[in-house]
Amino acid sequence: MNRVVKMFQAVAEDPEAYARDWKEKTNRHVIGYFCSYAPEEVMLAAGALPYRLTGSDRQIRLADSHLQAYSCSLVRSAMEDLLGGHLDFLDGTVFPHTCDSIQRLSDMWRMNASLTFHLDVVMPVKLEGASAKTYMVAVLKRFRKELETVTGACISEEKLIAASEVYNGLRTALRDIYKLRRTAPGSIGGSDLLAVTKGCMVMDRYDALGLLTDLKNEIAERKRAGEAGRKRIVLAGGLCNMPDLFDIIESAGGVVVDDDLCTGTRYADGGVDTGKEIFGALADRYLERAICPAKHAGLYKRGERLVQMVREGRADGVAFIYLKFCDPHAFDYPYLKAMLDAEGIPSMLYEIEGAFPSEGQFQTRCEAFIEML
Ligand code: SF4
Repeated sequence: MNRVVKMFQAVAEDPEAYARDWKEKTNRHVIGYFCSYAPEEVMLAAGALPYRLTGSDRQIRLADSHLQAYSCSLVRSAMEDLLGGHLDFLDGTVFPHTCDSIQRLSDMWRMNASLTFHLDVVMPVKLEGASAKTYMVAVLKRFRKELETVTGACISEEKLIAASEVYNGLRTALRDIYKLRRTAPGSIGGSDLLAVTKGCMVMDRYDALGLLTDLKNEIAERKRAGEAGRKRIVLAGGLCNMPDLFDIIESAGGVVVDDDLCTGTRYADGGVDTGKEIFGALADRYLERAICPAKHAGLYKRGERLVQMVREGRADGVAFIYLKFCDPHAFDYPYLKAMLDAEGIPSMLYEIEGAFPSEGQFQTRCEAFIEML
């Protein structure tokens, strides 16, 4: 594994230690956020470190007295991390409007966390039409104002443009790396790429951008070893916190060539046109980026993207990896599967709860699926 990947891996494995250390060195704010719809550019322009909360594999003890057992493991484990004092480095949290579970978590978080601030960002759910843009711009302006009040920072339009340019660079580099994986999946292992993307959601974004540029150049040179004869798989789902999953797919004779994950290509999608008025440009990015199932922009948009991904990646099949009890993804599944079936694309659905407890079961199903392709 190369030096740059190792650095991302260290952050992905212990993001809490990274954030604690960053805060100590910089004496600046660390802001937790839950979803790829959180407007990170505004947080970065405030001089803060946006910190993606993805939960952990700690045993759930404290969170159970607040949440039903049928909340998803992201919600339960993040609450456990909070109540157990593991997120003591956070100054505040930003909750974008996503699914019902996250919305209700916001209320419990506000009542149980003793952080300096707590902000809800209620973005539109329906992303089509002129009114969605007007609304999105108003939400972003309000968020800027609220963040200025709670952090004491001045978030000028120049700072927003500069922050957007950092994210543009970061997302472009990530997209280039995903593209390299699509054409030559042997150039970077699935678990390594997951670590890189997770690292980008936590690390100082200026440092991450420099590292990504080095990584991109380096993997473009790598040999395409070990790809021949492997079944090409596209992963689809929400949050993926499980590097082992890629190793299992690889040991079963498959290789992940692309993904529609919120810890994958959905995070890297789209850019901000900094030549335009900045709030309108930011709104356009959040309205036009690859959509997640908690938003709406046409009945078939997500299915069309998935089919296109399979075609472009010359994939043999799709593995849906869902967190158990995740309603938005579960509601989407029947129509996504029907669209894949209509195109003759085989798929399998696997539900995960917590940190990959039933590895053996996944391995067996994965081997059977890959054999069938
Ligand atoms: S969208 Fe699904 S995975 Fe994400 S928080 Fe909501 S229920 Fe959990």
